[in-house]
Amino acid sequence: MIYLDAAATSAVRRDVLEAMWPYLTGDFGNPSSHHTVGESAARALADARGTVAAWLGCRPSDVVFTSGGTEADNLAVKGISLATPRGRHIVTTPIEHEAVLESVDYLRRIHGFQVTFVDVDATGLVDPAAFAAAVRDDTTFATVMLANNEVGTVQPVAELAAIARKRGIPFHTDAVQAAGWLDLDTAGLGVDALSISGHKLGAPKGVGALFVRGRMPLEPVIHGGGQERGRRSGTENVAGAVGLAAAIRLGEAGRQERAESAAANRDVFVASVVSRVPRARLTGHPSLRLPASASFVFPGTSGESVLLELERRGIVSSSGSACAAGSDEASHVLLALGLDEEIAQTAVRFSWGPEVGSPELAIVADAVAEAVETVASITQ
Ligand code: PLP
Repeated sequence: MIYLDAAATSAVRRDVLEAMWPYLTGDFGNPSSHHTVGESAARALADARGTVAAWLGCRPSDVVFTSGGTEADNLAVKGISLATPRGRHIVTTPIEHEAVLESVDYLRRIHGFQVTFVDVDATGLVDPAAFAAAVRDDTTFATVMLANNEVGTVQPVAELAAIARKRGIPFHTDAVQAAGWLDLDTAGLGVDALSISGHKLGAPKGVGALFVRGRMPLEPVIHGGGQERGRRSGTENVAGAVGLAAAIRLGEAGRQERAESAAANRDVFVASVVSRVPRARLTGHPSLRLPASASFVFPGTSGESVLLELERRGIVSSSGSACAAGSDEASHVLLALGLDEEIAQTAVRFSWGPEVGSPELAIVADAVAEAVETVASITQ
């Protein structure tokens, strides 16, 4: 089996699991407990927080551990918007992950916020001038993802964050898909908040983190015992946080070289698919995209049927977001890029981890050509 759905999730790495093991067994304490078992857990949590902070170029106190990317996005969108008294207006894009879009919609429905969606172009890019035109004096919060989970387009986040900063508007970015591939130095990006998720990095599902800069007011979303400095209550997932830190350390070693080599392999793969399957169209930006992701539409076929044909050939991929898999609705991302609904239904996304190299991608390109041919011959 060749696994090309890393954007949905990845396996827990062995070293990560080994780092976590002690905190699930002998060293199982509650970090809030005032005894040696609890203190040991508290130390592990503090170490993990230090690793995340060093990675993001921020202070440990700026890191809030969460249950994953969805919760980090919810906390950023709702927590910052509700704590910022200046207005009730949010600026975002139509291609954000559902965790952002639904949180924004909650604020619109329940709290009367107004929302401006900045259009993206046909490659999924946000134009900074359009973003600048969308922010207002009463804008409370802006959020634009660093890399898109369906088409892989990477946004000019540093430029967008600088525009927001000049207007005094808190700026958040969802870096869930960018993590492990791009530099997430929050000072360089100039963002006020940033979300990450463990299971895209080789840590387990159910752990993530939100970076929130300094004294940014933040209304908690989960109330209770006041853990995480009152910003996220609930007994901390110590082993998960330790696993996240271990995955970050493993991922950062040689990241740049790995990303460059993955991007080179991706370009060969894309060229091979496009030359062998004349109907194939790459979606997203041709170069400003994640290194290990390529998504296509195959007009005149059905994406779901192509996926089945690929799976028969031992290749596991997806039509786009795992959250939308199985739904009959066309992807909101592809529609926002201007594709018509029928073509959007023919999408297939390939996303892979560092274990997939050019030999595997060559096999996949062969299989794609065969699978699309088979489905097209049945469809027509
Ligand atoms: N944001 C993006 C861009 C994602 O791709 C995902 C997951 O696919 C999430 C947020 C949600 O993360 P989690 O699965 O950890 O809740």
